[in-house]
Amino acid sequence: MENRIHHARLRSKRPLANHTVEYLFSHDEPDLHFRPGQFLSLRVGTSASGHAERRSYSIASSPEQRGELLLVLRLVEDGVGSQFFAAMAPGDPISFTGPMGFFVNDLSHPGDVVYVATGTGIAPILPMLIETLSRPEPGRVELYWGLRHEDDLFWQDELQTLTAKHPRFKAHIYLSQPRGFWRERGRVVPPVLEALPSLNRPTFYLCGNGQMIAECKAALIARGVERKRQIRTEAFFD
Ligand SMILES: Cc1cc2nc3c(=O)[nH]c(=O)nc-3n(C[C@H](O)[C@H](O)[C@H](O)COP(=O)(O)OP(=O)(O)OC[C@H]3O[C@@H](n4cnc5c(N)ncnc54)[C@H](O)[C@@H]3O)c2cc1C
Repeated sequence: MENRIHHARLRSKRPLANHTVEYLFSHDEPDLHFRPGQFLSLRVGTSASGHAERRSYSIASSPEQRGELLLVLRLVEDGVGSQFFAAMAPGDPISFTGPMGFFVNDLSHPGDVVYVATGTGIAPILPMLIETLSRPEPGRVELYWGLRHEDDLFWQDELQTLTAKHPRFKAHIYLSQPRGFWRERGRVVPPVLEALPSLNRPTFYLCGNGQMIAECKAALIARGVERKRQIRTEAFFD
């Protein structure tokens, strides 16, 4: 784990969707290296007892975007971290430790790769997808992304660009409570399990809501997927 404190400044922020905001930071720390999938531990306040309040945020940009760090946050009501970010304006500083974490792509994949995300769990998955698709691996790459309804959608252009560029990539976006017509309706775990028999030596990366991760992982293991070799997880909350 990288314990040194780093600094960056907010360059811009833009709303992406319902309660979801993208924050772009600039830094000039040449030795700040990370792998797609890793996260930062940010100081977001001070507790009543005087201790630093920290929250973790996955890096949503790719390492090639030198001097930049992109974060994507779901702002939750009354959350300490959410209030800190909601109040941020361009030029404001952040301090953080990291990048850290082991939720990164395996160095190579023996077969298909399946990413399963809920909500802002897509944040580390997008740079991981870009990394995997840049490799000369032959397997299919599938994204299953679960959101509640149309107002929660974002990064549709980014995913369409990847789909157009890489024939081996397919994105499946599931809405659990669509307001209008939406073809892929419901929660995200059942279609992943349905796809399982058609997958060749898959590696799974699960990110977002802890309940989705626990459910998906247990169901995959019950169907013969090997926990240690084939499943990687990052739970944002329980
Ligand atoms: C390794 C790691 C990486 C993370 N990366 C991200 C990220 O890239 N983007 C991000 O938005 N969050 C991310 N989180 C969650 C983040 O650290 C905070 O928990 C979240 O921002 C809420 O903090 P808060 O202080 O505002 O609210 P808190 O009071 O700490 O949390 C309130 C409640 O909000 C809910 N909640 C927390 N996070 C989310 C979420 N993302 N979507 C929906 N509901 C949520 C939970 O029920 C939680 O109990 C990550 C967490 C971990 C452990």
